[in-house]
Amino acid sequence: MEQKDKPRILIVDDEKMNLKVLADLLKEDYSPILARDGEQALQHAFGDSPPDLILLDVVMPQMGGYEVIKRLKNNDKTNHIPVIFVTSLDSVLDEEHGLKLGAVDYITKPFSPPIVKIRVHNHLRIVHQYRLLDQLAYLDGLTEISNRRRFDEYLQREWVRSARSGTPFSLAMVDVDYFKLYNDHYGHAMGDRTLQKIAKALDSVLKRPADLIARYGGEEFVMMLPETDALAAKGVAERALGKIVELNIPHHYSQAAAYVTVSMGLVTMYVDNSHTPQSFVAAADKNLYLAKENGRNRIVASVIGT
Ligand code: GH3
Ligand code: MG
Ligand code: MG
Repeated sequence: MEQKDKPRILIVDDEKMNLKVLADLLKEDYSPILARDGEQALQHAFGDSPPDLILLDVVMPQMGGYEVIKRLKNNDKTNHIPVIFVTSLDSVLDEEHGLKLGAVDYITKPFSPPIVKIRVHNHLRIVHQYRLLDQLAYLDGLTEISNRRRFDEYLQREWVRSARSGTPFSLAMVDVDYFKLYNDHYGHAMGDRTLQKIAKALDSVLKRPADLIARYGGEEFVMMLPETDALAAKGVAERALGKIVELNIPHHYSQAAAYVTVSMGLVTMYVDNSHTPQSFVAAADKNLYLAKENGRNRIVASVIGT
């Protein structure tokens, strides 16, 4: 396995020897990061690539392990990282104190290397399972793209970022044309499969890591394009519309075409105080309505703000 794929374990201890012993023990399966004191530990934890688990000494000069864990638990960015105390404080009261501060485990020195390995392994497995659950909670079951909940959270976050950076932000609401008639004639199971194909096709046109496609509900999707101006957004929307046409899924009962099509309401916004994420979505919805009115299988776009 590549070094970068290994789980990252931050080892914090003021004794160089202890750091070495733990690092040697774990380096085969994990990628150890070493910190000699509390300050260094926090720098790593709050940095760009935080660890997956922390082995934390309690007694250290300046900032001790109890203070370090308090700061980790008080921060949204780090409070989920499991912390295992590795300490020579071996009274039951010390252990109770450490666990009450939020540590997942407590190992006393001198430790047994195989037991440290097993405990680290077990806690990382729990982390992995939590992450899977978290991902599932944000996925739409039918199409396996992001769900409405993920969209709402992401919109909020990107909105703030866009307001701060002053960069335009685009959003497209996508609705399948005459889909009730499609279901009525081809059956709900075919309808489901068609929605899956549409989700995949829409997803395929998004190229930037910050772009998001989500199922907004029913036969409606939403594409979020942060840091994208009107011209670029129009290009993405047109490619998406084309992809759906290319799928060439027969729809004899559509009045827009002989195959399945979508309509899109596109908005590009320069975020300012007079708007909210809700008004952004409402503007896209309004354009979607106009696209339907104007004959479907088309895009209606507008720009808000300067
Ligand atoms: P328009 O062109 O104006 O959008 O017409 P429409 O028929 O697509 O719009 P309407 O809102 O009347 O109907 C949407 C249909 O989408 C109704 C429902 O049967 C179908 N639909 C919504 N969610 C699902 C789903 O998960 N699976 C399937 N198969 N159909 C769905
Ligand atoms: Mg609809
Ligand atoms: Mg529809």
